[in-house]
Amino acid sequence: MVNLGEKAKECKANTITLIRVKVGEFAAFDNFSQGTMAEKASLKITSSPLLGKCRKCNEVFKIKKEIFKCSKCDSLDIDIISGEDLYIEDIEIE
Ligand SMILES: [Zn+2]
Repeated sequence: MVNLGEKAKECKANTITLIRVKVGEFAAFDNFSQGTMAEKASLKITSSPLLGKCRKCNEVFKIKKEIFKCSKCDSLDIDIISGEDLYIEDIEIE
């Protein structure tokens, strides 16, 4: 995770005008922008799918709307393998 304040300082910037992030469906932008100079920045989100892997049959599937069960065997014993992450891909500053 990039620390926005430090990144901006590195570049001698005062204002961050655009932040491009890749965000898991479960991660929230507010959590890291609040109270920072990025509060007023526009946000472009690339959403990555939430993927689960079944512990019983090893099926890897896309989790739909909080239904955490295997698409193949309906097991609820699954691991989330992607979608909780939040990366900053790029920022533009002034
Ligand atoms: Zn399964």
